[in-house]
Amino acid sequence: MAKPIVAIVGRPNVGKSTLFNMLVGERLSIVKDTPGVTRDRIYADVNWLNYHFTLMDTGGIEPETNNQMLRHMREQAEMAIEMADVVMFVVDVKQGVVDADYKVAEMLRKAQKKIVLVVNKVDNFDKLMPDVYEFYNLGLGDPYPISSIGKLGIGDMLDEVTALFPENEDDAEDERPRIAIVGKPNAGKSSIINKLLGENRVIVSDVAGTTRDAVDTAVKWNGKEYVFIDTAGLRRKNKIKEEIERYSILRTVSAVERADVVVLVIDATEGITEQDAKIAGIAHDRGRGMIIAVNKWDAIEKDNKTVSEFSKKVRNTLSFMPYAEIMFVSALTGQRLPKLFEAIEVVIQNHSLRIATGVLNEILTEAVAMQQPPSDKGRRLKIYYMTQVSVKPPTFVIFVNDKRLMHFSYTRYLENKIREAFGFAGTPLKFIIRERK
Ligand code: GDP
Ligand code: GDP
Repeated sequence: MAKPIVAIVGRPNVGKSTLFNMLVGERLSIVKDTPGVTRDRIYADVNWLNYHFTLMDTGGIEPETNNQMLRHMREQAEMAIEMADVVMFVVDVKQGVVDADYKVAEMLRKAQKKIVLVVNKVDNFDKLMPDVYEFYNLGLGDPYPISSIGKLGIGDMLDEVTALFPENEDDAEDERPRIAIVGKPNAGKSSIINKLLGENRVIVSDVAGTTRDAVDTAVKWNGKEYVFIDTAGLRRKNKIKEEIERYSILRTVSAVERADVVVLVIDATEGITEQDAKIAGIAHDRGRGMIIAVNKWDAIEKDNKTVSEFSKKVRNTLSFMPYAEIMFVSALTGQRLPKLFEAIEVVIQNHSLRIATGVLNEILTEAVAMQQPPSDKGRRLKIYYMTQVSVKPPTFVIFVNDKRLMHFSYTRYLENKIREAFGFAGTPLKFIIRERK
């Protein structure tokens, strides 16, 4: 289920963004369409033959002086090492090997990361190949010559990238539910995890097998083990706000990718923000189960309207996920944290709930009888039947006479009917509309 993560690393101007955009293509506009959420082009889904992966651009703000550059590149590489399964290290054939390249290559080698050395701007293979061999000096194995602009060498390079993907056996065998705790820095993510550990007298054991799991913690609750993925991570001083944000977004993507359920921690003392919406959008796009935990509830003054007013604001800002439950908690006092665990368990169940086709179509028939499907120019939408094809998230295929007649609002209506009948609290539902003549 978890998609591999590939990170692009390299000096400024070697062509990282050009490569990123080329690989992502037009698809980006379709993938990132969560309403109300603006998103930077720093990560995106790539589909290459049968391989699907998440591509991350670790670049960001470019350093102004040569002195800053090495520090900047080290940070990029650290990010990539921490979050990615495979690192594409991009260099520039026109500039040749420079000192900073050696240093970064050494870091990547030491971290024993899977690396693909990509030599960009090889716009003419015949002429420029001799210059490519110089990059063997980096000690990273075969250089893959490409031209991002000319779209040359991309197939061979991606073959190599995808050949390095993990087999995914560890994750597949590990049946413990995985829960990512996400949210802005200082929202209280670590505090919540620590408190959950304490409150429930849990057994903390090592999570073996995978490479990126330094921050994972196994927790036992009611006789069942859960794995928590913390995204709190390193805190760096004196960093530009945009860099911190990029880092925390990429980290969130990486954690959400590996999770079944996501707990979004919101700082009650700050209220809900655009950054919270961005983070929530990542979980929504990836179809994860979702709980909104408004933390530091101890720290704000309350009267009998506070809960409903706060909820309203959250619902407004996160209007794309009405299915998520909102809980008001405090990591400091432990208020409602046991309830959070119960909620997580409910969402886990709902996220993999399967509804039999027969029952589903009873609901469908009833729904269609209550509200006629839309029509256009005398032609009415006919819905033949519906079936659930997968879980995590629950995904339904609806067979119709003409896809164009299936308005978003009618799909939403059917979704509401399904939710009325079966609950599905905390999980997004996915609908695929198919035509049957
Ligand atoms: P980044 O700073 O690493 O993200 O680099 P950019 O993607 O912004 O590219 C820097 C410059 O290199 C731009 O002027 C690009 O047009 C150019 N560039 C990128 N890829 C290629 C390529 O394959 N061939 C050539 N000739 N130029 C390229
Ligand atoms: P993280 O960056 O999201 O992991 O946030 P931390 O768990 O490190 O918490 C950030 C700050 O908020 C720390 O000073 C915590 O003591 C404080 N904090 C966390 N949870 C609560 C809470 O429920 N109530 C109050 N009053 N403070 C909290």
